[in-house]
Amino acid sequence: MFYFGWWDLIPIPGFLLALYAQFKLRSLYAKYHAVPQSRGMNGAEVAQAILDRAGIRDVAIEACPGELTDHYDPKARVLRLSESNFRVSSLSAIGVAAHEAGHAIQHKERYAPLEMRMSIVGVTNFATSAGMILFFIGLFIHSGWMLQLGIWCYSAIVIFQVITLPVEFDASRRAKLVLGELGLVDREEGEAIRKVLGAAALTYVAGLATALLELLRMIALANTVRNRD
Ligand SMILES: [Zn+2]
Repeated sequence: MFYFGWWDLIPIPGFLLALYAQFKLRSLYAKYHAVPQSRGMNGAEVAQAILDRAGIRDVAIEACPGELTDHYDPKARVLRLSESNFRVSSLSAIGVAAHEAGHAIQHKERYAPLEMRMSIVGVTNFATSAGMILFFIGLFIHSGWMLQLGIWCYSAIVIFQVITLPVEFDASRRAKLVLGELGLVDREEGEAIRKVLGAAALTYVAGLATALLELLRMIALANTVRNRD
């Protein structure tokens, strides 16, 4: 009943890309986390400076545990920086902080892809889990329509990952722009931050590739099961 076959090879390029992206992000992040910003500003100070300039007063900046756990929470209107990025002055810290502040600016400006992403996050989580369950039940009881339904539900994650790309790329674009406008980085520092944010962007491309290839694997497996019956 467990159908192992050539389709299990389909996700491999996605896994490899995800591994490479994580490795690249972690090594570039570590490299530039050891380089202090010229004025000695930490991530929290830079995020605050960007929010102030954008006229955003209802977003709090907090520290959160872990490494590279930084995120903007649009529901709570909180910009959370990992402890180290919050308090340490480094090019990585201010790059990440500026990126998260970029999300807060997107939220203020009602940037369409962010709004869309916020509105589908709940249904995506549900549909993805339901899709996996339906698919496995479909395999177990040899039900073609259930396999099909599982695939349709699971495809929600692919749509979500596609919408994530403009949200993330735009936040980084805003980050680089505003750091320059506020005079917080010189050319060399800007170049280092561009590298770190570029590596972070690659992890989102890898996320999309992983979801897409997983979907293709499900389709290939469903077709094989259907042709056998
Ligand atoms: Zn982001």
